[in-house]
Amino acid sequence: MKNLVVFGPPGCGKGTQSANIVQRYGLVHLSTGDIIRKEIAGESAMGDLLNKFVSHGVLVPDNIILKEVYRFGLDHLRSNGIVFDGFPRNLYQAQMLDRIFHKKSMRIGLVISIDVPEDILMARIIERGKTSGRSDDTIEVMKNRLMVYQSQTQPVIDYYKKCNRLVLIDGTKAVNNVFDDIEQIINERLYR
Ligand code: ADP
Repeated sequence: MKNLVVFGPPGCGKGTQSANIVQRYGLVHLSTGDIIRKEIAGESAMGDLLNKFVSHGVLVPDNIILKEVYRFGLDHLRSNGIVFDGFPRNLYQAQMLDRIFHKKSMRIGLVISIDVPEDILMARIIERGKTSGRSDDTIEVMKNRLMVYQSQTQPVIDYYKKCNRLVLIDGTKAVNNVFDDIEQIINERLYR
């Protein structure tokens, strides 16, 4: 299996590029954000609970997320590989992912971090908020999401850097050009 993480701040293009990767390489897409939004749309008790976190731009508790990731992993053990989008989002999640994978003799072979400066991220999210219908695509909540990213998610970069799995990508280019760069790195690192 070729498992990889697509990493980066809110608005960097993780979702779009993950979908491109999945299509190009025949992998499966695990977006924790999409799983959460589906649950919220279903208006279950769990959905209501999740919405309290998401609408404030803070992370959903690890135990809830890890259960979903574990279930998805078990369901896709025979796939060509998993593209993780929006996970892991803190050090604990990154360590748990390695631990779960280790038990199954699987590994994350590559972490692609999409780099975009904050002013551009803010502008993108304000624009997306006009049509996305997402309660967290507002200026106020986005400020919070960026703060959470810096304090809790950014440290994960060092974790992956240490084991030489991290590659940085310039996410300010056009979507197609970002994907060209990603494709080149995946071909070099995972399909040599
Ligand atoms: P973005 O990266 O643009 O914020 P996501 O769809 O990845 O979009 O995440 C939206 C929200 O869902 C996050 O702000 C957070 O509340 C929740 N979420 C998604 N993934 C995780 C995760 N791995 N751990 C905790 N919360 C998560």
